[in-house]
Amino acid sequence: MDETGDKCYCGQTACVETFISGPSLERFYMKLTGVKMSLKDIYDLYLKDDPNAILVIDRLIHYFGKAVATVVNIIDPEIIVIGGGVGNLDVIYERGPAEVLKHLFNNELKTKFVKPKLGDSAGVIGAALL
Ligand SMILES: [Zn+2]
Repeated sequence: MDETGDKCYCGQTACVETFISGPSLERFYMKLTGVKMSLKDIYDLYLKDDPNAILVIDRLIHYFGKAVATVVNIIDPEIIVIGGGVGNLDVIYERGPAEVLKHLFNNELKTKFVKPKLGDSAGVIGAALL
């Protein structure tokens, strides 16, 4: 995503995971403030116009746009289900599509972004069904 990114648990540097996952957002907030806080609490602060939480969420939206636009440019899916803690943040659905559009090859975005019907457990339930 960006050469200035953090080391990823997979061994690479600056993977998407290091920019738009819940743990990466919590680490970025910690870098800014020295305070360890959950993504949910950071998001609550964002909704109350906390400047550091705004930086975290603005950064999320920026990299979400870049990362998802790469996928949309290649496979142009009808729908993208956003799992994990980030998928619980309404801001992803409110501001995300406009940011994706900035990085698209086309000047129109038809892809829908939705929360998983099974919530945060969708991955685990899917794995159990295999
Ligand atoms: Zn990685």
